[in-house]
Amino acid sequence: MVKRATVIGAGIIGVCCASYLQRAGFTVEILDPEPPGTMCSYGNAGGICPGSCIPIAGPGMLRKLPGWLMDKEGPLHIRMAYLPALLPWLLRFLAAGRVAEVRRISRAMRALHAPTFACYEPLLGAAGSTDLLAKRGQLFVYETADGPSYDQFGLSLRREAGVKVEILDEGALRDLEPALAPIFRSAVFLPEQGQCANPGRLVASLAQAFERNGGTIHRSRVHGVRMVGGQPGALDTDTGQRPVENLVIAAGAWSAPLARQLGCKVPLETERGYHAMVAGADTGLRTQTIWAERKFVAAPMEEGIRFAGTVELAGLDAPPNMRRADLLLRQGRRMLRHIPDGAVGKWMGHRPSTPDSLPVISASPHHQNVFFAFGHGHMGLIGGSVTGRLIADLATGGKPIIDPAPYRVDRFH
Ligand SMILES: Cc1cc2nc3c(=O)[nH]c(=O)nc-3n(C[C@H](O)[C@H](O)[C@H](O)COP(=O)(O)OP(=O)(O)OC[C@H]3O[C@@H](n4cnc5c(N)ncnc54)[C@H](O)[C@@H]3O)c2cc1C
Repeated sequence: MVKRATVIGAGIIGVCCASYLQRAGFTVEILDPEPPGTMCSYGNAGGICPGSCIPIAGPGMLRKLPGWLMDKEGPLHIRMAYLPALLPWLLRFLAAGRVAEVRRISRAMRALHAPTFACYEPLLGAAGSTDLLAKRGQLFVYETADGPSYDQFGLSLRREAGVKVEILDEGALRDLEPALAPIFRSAVFLPEQGQCANPGRLVASLAQAFERNGGTIHRSRVHGVRMVGGQPGALDTDTGQRPVENLVIAAGAWSAPLARQLGCKVPLETERGYHAMVAGADTGLRTQTIWAERKFVAAPMEEGIRFAGTVELAGLDAPPNMRRADLLLRQGRRMLRHIPDGAVGKWMGHRPSTPDSLPVISASPHHQNVFFAFGHGHMGLIGGSVTGRLIADLATGGKPIIDPAPYRVDRFH
C-alpha cells in the first residue's frame, strides 16, 4: 500500500524532506502559505560547505559579548525589550560554548555536513539545476597578517575533522581573489567548500521537480494538529482540515509551537539575519568570502553581489531594522575594489536556531508517525540535503545515512 506523508514548510528543509520521502516511495504533499524557498531559504549567503563544523557559541563568548553589544557596527544586536523572553535560550547558548561541548557539537556538525554534496547531487540532477552548486572553496579574510593565528581553536577543530585548510599570506590572497580591496593581509582558504549562486532558485527548482514527480504543494498555513486514536490524524489549516498519515514538521523558525502541540518542547529562537544586494554587479569576486573580524559574507550571486550576515535577537514579530542591511552594504563596499552601480535590495530572514547550533532531525518519541526537521540556524542550506535523506531513512526504518542521536528532539531535557 502506498504510504502518504505531509510536510509542513516549503523552505530548503521541507523541500529536501519531501523530495527524499518521494524517492523512498511516499506520496507526499507540502503545506505552506508562501511559495517554496521564499522565507529564510531565500536570501542567505549560499554557502554549501561540507567542512562547516564550528558551532556558533564558542569559548570566551561571554567575554566578547559586551564589546559586541556596545558596538553599533558589530555583528550582534539584541533588542533590550526582548531580553527577558530571550534569557533562557541565551543561557543555554552560552553553556553550549564550553570547550567540551563545542568539541561534541563540532563532531555532530561535521557528520551532518560532510555528505551534503552527495545528497544534493541526485536532487539537483533530477531538477536540471546542477549549475546551482559550485565547488569553489570558501575564504575567510583578515585585516592583519597574523589574523588566522587568533583562531587556532577553530582551525584545530577543522583539521581534526579532516577538513582541508590552507593559510594564505597577502600575496597568495591577491593571486586567488584580485577583486578584494587591498585592506586584507591574510586569509584561510577552505578549498573543499561549495556555494550556490541563487538559494531561492535552488529551492524553487527542487520544488518543481518534486511536483513533476507527482508531489503536491498546497498554499495553506497549519494552525493545529488533531489527534485521532492518540496519533495525529488531521491538520487544521486556513484552507480547511487535511488528513495526515505521516507528518514532518519543517516550518523553520515557526516550528516550536507545532512541536509543542505534539508533546516536544524545543528551545528555538530566531537569529534574524540581513542582506544587502547590489543587483547586476559583477565585482570579479568568485569565491564566497567572509570578513573574519566583522563576521559577514560577500557572496557572488547570479543576480549581483550579496553582503549577508549579522545576528539580531528580537523575536519573530518585531519589524525588520533595515539599518542592519545598510551597515552590511557600507562594510561590504570596503571589501571589494570595485562595485558597479546597481539597485540595492535589502532583506531580513529568520534563522531557526537552537542554542547548541545543531538542528532537530528526529522521529517523535511520542508518535510513530511524526518527524521533526528544523532548527538549522546558520547552516540550513548546508544541512538541507542530508536532513531530507535522514528523515526518509527514519520514516522508512532504513539504515540511517548518519547516526541520528546528536539531533534528537528530546536532547534538551
Ligand atoms: C543572512 C543569512 C545568511 C545565511 N547564510 C547561510 C549559508 O551561507 N549557508 C547555509 O547553509 N545557511 C545559511 N543561512 C541559514 C539558512 O538560510 C537557514 O538555516 C535555512 O534557510 C532554514 O531553512 P528552513 O526550511 O528551516 O526555513 P525557511 O526557509 O524559513 O522555511 C520555513 C517554511 O515554513 C513555512 N511555515 C512556517 N509556519 C508554517 C505553518 N504554520 N504552516 C505551514 N507552513 C509554515 C514558512 O512559510 C517557510 O516557507 C543564512 C541565513 C541568513 C539569515
